[in-house]
Amino acid sequence: MFGRVPKKSDNTKFYEVLGVPKSASQDELKKAYKKAAIKNHPDKGGDPEKFKELAHAYEVLSDPEKREIYDQYGEDALKEGMGGGGSSHNPFDIFESFFGGGAFGGGGSSRGRRQKRGEDVVHALKVSLEELYNGTTKKLSLSRNAICSKCKGKGSKSGASSRCYGCQGTGMKITTRQIGLGMIQQMQHVCPECRGSGEMISDRDRCPQCKGNKVTQEKKVLEVHIEKGMRDGQKITFEGQADEAPDTITGDIVFVLEQKKHPKFDRRFGDDLYVDHNLSLTEALCGFQFALTHLDGRQLLIKSNPGEVVKPGQYKAINDEGMPHHQRPFMKGKLVIQFHVIFPESGVFSPEQCRKIESVLPMRPSKHLTDMELDDCEETTLHDVSAEEVKRRKEQRQHRHREAYDEDDDDDESAPRVQCAQQ
Ligand SMILES: [Zn+2]
Ligand SMILES: [Zn+2]
Repeated sequence: MFGRVPKKSDNTKFYEVLGVPKSASQDELKKAYKKAAIKNHPDKGGDPEKFKELAHAYEVLSDPEKREIYDQYGEDALKEGMGGGGSSHNPFDIFESFFGGGAFGGGGSSRGRRQKRGEDVVHALKVSLEELYNGTTKKLSLSRNAICSKCKGKGSKSGASSRCYGCQGTGMKITTRQIGLGMIQQMQHVCPECRGSGEMISDRDRCPQCKGNKVTQEKKVLEVHIEKGMRDGQKITFEGQADEAPDTITGDIVFVLEQKKHPKFDRRFGDDLYVDHNLSLTEALCGFQFALTHLDGRQLLIKSNPGEVVKPGQYKAINDEGMPHHQRPFMKGKLVIQFHVIFPESGVFSPEQCRKIESVLPMRPSKHLTDMELDDCEETTLHDVSAEEVKRRKEQRQHRHREAYDEDDDDDESAPRVQCAQQ
């Protein structure tokens, strides 16, 4: 109706994008762009569209000629007049003209491409409980790829490389194979000529030290400090010590501690140490003392209190003789001893000895069967049943029960409801 009406926003949008007045000086433009570009950089999680907009606005307004056209005729005029371009530059190039490539410590990344991270190398490191108790240092010799010191990872003497002919620089090659009448199979594989790098170095230009591989094998000795109280499964990390590769952030070498089983001590529940000790029946009843060699070679004298009777399976603990606490090694867990009582074999006591023993042991239960009660009883014979046999019979029963009933049925563990009341 009115023909072309110039839209107001046409020549204010770029100022709004940068958040500056139309009268802004070159300096103010620069400052505004810097601040906004850092905030909106995609590497920092910013919106790439906003980042692009900022670069474009700054590119136009920082050029006095373009700014004048924009101020007078708006954005469209720039598009028409500037060789169809308007925005000719990569927003990352504009950003980097201010800050350089390593703006965010990424180390020379360009075009906003993030550097890839090399893989971590994980090794299991076997350690004894003694080593975890006392702490130790292990020297480990490893070989790894290191950036060639001669060519600094370029692979060539001149630093030049050209695109691989074999794969046109893609690093991958597609081969086709006829597998039947009119049937073709396509296979993609790593280009053998450039080994996936996509570039070629001429034979003459090849670095003599790495033969163009960009990396060389390096022997490295790492000192792994195993601190007091560290645990099975704990990781010790050497940051950035894994294989080096060009344009790659070097990964870590990670040692995962693997505690070897100890013949005597068992670490449980954090920093407690468990140890088994067998007592003879006499020791259990009349007292004991013995020396226990600790993980640092100290001899601990372990003894019962006067008059103390130790029951089979009983636990006793000594405070502060367990494992040291990692990072607070002056604090230690408990040393817990489980006592097992070895009873004498059948037949070792004569009737005479039995009477002697009985004379000092607590009385038998006072309830005696009367002759009449005895007459009512049937004779039986006791025989041995091993714990294994009991377990086996229980499993067999459960198995049969599962076969016979649905799962929801009666609990197969349930004891008989009616018990024989025996007196
Ligand atoms: Zn080299
Ligand atoms: Zn290639």
